[in-house]
Amino acid sequence: MKKRLLAVLFLTVLIAACSSPLPPEVPSREPVRLLYQAGEVVSAYDAAIRKAEDELATLAQLPAPDRTSMEKSLLRFEQILGDLDDRVLAVTSLCYFGTNAVVREESFACAAEYSSFIKILYTRSDIYQAVRDAIPRDDDEKQLLKYHRKRFEKSGLALDDAKRNELTAALSAVSDKERQFSKNIADDQTTVEFTAAELTGVPQNYLDSFAKTSDGTKYIVRPEYQNYVCVVTYAHSAATRQKMMLAYHQVGGPANITLLSEAIDARRKIASLAGYASWGDYQTDGRMAGTAKTAVDMLNGLKTEIKPRFDTDMQKMREAKGADFGGAATLDLWDTPYYAKKIKKKDYSYDTEALKEYFPLDGVLDGLFGICGELFGIQIEEVKDAAVWDRAIKLYATRDLASLRILGYFYLDLYHREGKDNRFFMSALLNARLLSDGTYQKPVAIFLGNFVRRVGDQPPLLEQWEVETVFHEFGHVLHVILSRVPYSSLSGYNVPWDYGELPSQMLEFFARDRKILSRVSGHYQERSKKVSEEMLNQLAAVNTFNLSYRYYEKIWQSLVDMTLHTSAIPLDPTATCNTMFKDTLGMELPAGDLFMAGFGHLMGGYDAGYYSYIWSEVYAWDVLAEFQKTNFGSAEIGAKYRRAILERGAIRDPSDLLKDFLGRAPNDGAFRKWLGI
Ligand SMILES: [Zn+2]
Repeated sequence: MKKRLLAVLFLTVLIAACSSPLPPEVPSREPVRLLYQAGEVVSAYDAAIRKAEDELATLAQLPAPDRTSMEKSLLRFEQILGDLDDRVLAVTSLCYFGTNAVVREESFACAAEYSSFIKILYTRSDIYQAVRDAIPRDDDEKQLLKYHRKRFEKSGLALDDAKRNELTAALSAVSDKERQFSKNIADDQTTVEFTAAELTGVPQNYLDSFAKTSDGTKYIVRPEYQNYVCVVTYAHSAATRQKMMLAYHQVGGPANITLLSEAIDARRKIASLAGYASWGDYQTDGRMAGTAKTAVDMLNGLKTEIKPRFDTDMQKMREAKGADFGGAATLDLWDTPYYAKKIKKKDYSYDTEALKEYFPLDGVLDGLFGICGELFGIQIEEVKDAAVWDRAIKLYATRDLASLRILGYFYLDLYHREGKDNRFFMSALLNARLLSDGTYQKPVAIFLGNFVRRVGDQPPLLEQWEVETVFHEFGHVLHVILSRVPYSSLSGYNVPWDYGELPSQMLEFFARDRKILSRVSGHYQERSKKVSEEMLNQLAAVNTFNLSYRYYEKIWQSLVDMTLHTSAIPLDPTATCNTMFKDTLGMELPAGDLFMAGFGHLMGGYDAGYYSYIWSEVYAWDVLAEFQKTNFGSAEIGAKYRRAILERGAIRDPSDLLKDFLGRAPNDGAFRKWLGI
């Protein structure tokens, strides 16, 4: 009887549903909680960890006969990790952008603790025993098992207790050093002072953003990335550029050099205990490169191939400096951005100031959203009255164009704020994953930037590299919010390190195409006025200038990273950095330079991984070439890319994902074409 009644009710509901379409899904004003008071972050974090620890304790007791069951062992483990990640990702990200200093401090401490917690978790043999014998039933489960087993094995699970304890202690030590390293950078209060005359050449909007000394005679400049780039690019005075560069290269101070050395020593020990020849091999195992040698060979091969073009780039800049000083000149690192800009203006009639008037930030974003919408079959809409922490922050919902269902959300927090992290980057706040009710969790990402506002509330005007940055970070955002992977551990940006930049670089390269640039352009005073053909020609020509120099800088940093992380004996980071700088770029770093003290990548996950930027570029160009074939006009290719790459995180190995998209094995043809080699 009850059953029949239910059936009738169900039928009625079904008829009602068929006769009137479902109302459009209303976006959430707060897809993930980000507004916290002091004290709440730690308690939220602690509660999440306590819950996970209880669940892990139960899992560790799983009876032996149940350990082959995916549901009871590995999938349960994945679910515990996914639940934990959901509760912890946002609170541990507040350190980057929270408006309350205490909240940021708490978040920073929790983020560091969380990183240690996860590292230590994979050293637990009771959990390993509970999950390692799970029998996968399909390829997705196989991939998940492979991923977790590899992490356990790299954490020394094959070792006896004494050695495993040693390895665990070294892992904790690395986390502590990394945490302190970032803290030293964040806490660095160094400033440099310049008179107005010393800053001649620096654009007015930057000057307006600098504080002044109490007597008003000098500008106070913090050695942050944006300020550094601006001063070394625009200041006419070489002494000013040198002073700015040195200040930027000293952020973190000698204490960070010691921390880096200690972390490298601990990593060497971990690699050795886990049975690897070096930390380079340890890190690359499971990534596309596979071994440190493959990565280093790629870097050295590229270095040799583009050497003639690098020499030409350097010669041009030397000549430009010589012209300023009436004779032969020695080029220094703080000269290169300045003279590169001068050459661009003189030889390519490239006028950055005139060009950027066509790229106001809001216009670029509108254009970018439109392009991504058409190509990837999505619709991006602003969520009105969103719960945000600063009036300049915006929240967007992303819908699938066909079904209009909401796929995910992203925040744009693009302006500089006191206390906010001073980089441009994307952070995942919630990962996509399959929930127990069969629906996908809606992922949430945040794009953090540090643009400086212009006078009044006018949007900033972007240089071309800034347009590329916006495209790049949005590529990361799409990777997170379009993910359709059942497991959090393999979802979105949780992919092998040397593959993770592919979606961002691919989109970044869109911003070098004439059609795309024209589409996102619009003069800030008259939006219908597009960038001219002539300017686009100049831009295309100028993009090839100094190309080799830019790769040489990345090659130098990548080789320093790999040298420090493959050496059998401790090396002095500063001496290694300076020597390799001279060997690669042919210039000297000045006395007192501490570049490695602020090279956060080596203490933030890119250790023995900096090569990834060039590595994934090779594949990004290969993928881009598919879009170029149809002049970025094919929604079919866009849909294929979304399905094969953006939705699939690391549910298959990157080479298989690329093969699915390309219909063939990836190659370096398009990358070489771009480089002209
Ligand atoms: Zn990136």
